[in-house]
Amino acid sequence: MSTTPIHGAVFRGPRQPLVAQELRLDPPGPGEVRVRMAATGVCHSDLHVVDGEWVRPTEVILGHEGAGVIELLGDGVLERSPSVAPGAGPGWRIGDLVVLAWTAPCAACTACRRGEDWLCAAPHGGGHRLAADAVRVRRPDGSPVGVYSGVGTHSTGQVVAAEAAIPVDPRTPPDVAALIGCAAMTGVGAVRATAGVRAGDTVVVIGLGGVGLAALMAAVDAGATVIGIDREPAKLALATELGAAHALEPGATAEVIRLTDGGADHAFECIGLVATAEAAVDLVRPGGAVTLVGMTPQGARARIDVYRFVEDGKRLLGSNYGSAVPARDFPTIAADVVSGRLPLGRLVTERIGLGDLDAALDAMRRRDGARRVVVF
Ligand SMILES: [Zn+2]
Ligand SMILES: [Zn+2]
Repeated sequence: MSTTPIHGAVFRGPRQPLVAQELRLDPPGPGEVRVRMAATGVCHSDLHVVDGEWVRPTEVILGHEGAGVIELLGDGVLERSPSVAPGAGPGWRIGDLVVLAWTAPCAACTACRRGEDWLCAAPHGGGHRLAADAVRVRRPDGSPVGVYSGVGTHSTGQVVAAEAAIPVDPRTPPDVAALIGCAAMTGVGAVRATAGVRAGDTVVVIGLGGVGLAALMAAVDAGATVIGIDREPAKLALATELGAAHALEPGATAEVIRLTDGGADHAFECIGLVATAEAAVDLVRPGGAVTLVGMTPQGARARIDVYRFVEDGKRLLGSNYGSAVPARDFPTIAADVVSGRLPLGRLVTERIGLGDLDAALDAMRRRDGARRVVVF
């Protein structure tokens, strides 16, 4: 099989513009599928790399939040029976709408055997596919280009491990399907899986970007009373429309304590700032749980009052990828979108093209809007 021409935005080094260039995509190898990208989000984790806050190899196609359509199955990829709906049973079919997972579990390591896919120690695509035997994207001269987390969604097409391509209900709008691959999974999973929010709980969500608003929707859906906190009036208004009982500006600790009669059952930090992570600890009641979802620059450390923390019996949880088991959770979230339970389409601030990525990253630096999505 011959190579396929694609366009991909290549990260060449910190603080350099992303330039979409013509590249060649190899056919899928054993256990891999070729995906025509339908949509991809622009996530804070891409920005951390572009701004040099997280060290990653160059040159790679960034983007790890995407959805597309399967065009080709590599050798050994299980073909699903036509009578089984996408996501309802094992296997893949050409034409499937798939949400791409940036941690595609290996199914063999200790974490995977515990069912903790999100902690997989050897995910497909680890190392951003710079190993010579795992290169699928090349420049016209044949030199290799890596792909971020094995999915590199800032491109018109990609070859990924089949386990990274999760078939979902084809009625899921592609731009929303893309968000399920990172922001939505991270926010919804933090509420449902990591923290286990229940009906009647009081929940504070700090930071109402894509992840925070997804967490807010999941908490509202769970039957919790939700307080949203952000400094942008437009995001506070959206939080109220989405069912938040209260929408407050940062620094309203006393107000949160008053509204929750002594502190919330749960607080979710969805920005990735040390200051808000520390503040979140003060927003929960004795026995309450703080879930840290946002990611800081590497090496950042937070301080807590250890005496009070122990005395109050609080809990501090880290939520990586919303404790995702992609093959289980992506189809569920997509079904909740189709049924209207999770109105994740409200996260899409603007639909853009591949050439608009730098402007979208700039908007993210300004914390302007929830999510910008490239639609191909
Ligand atoms: Zn992300
Ligand atoms: Zn594993």
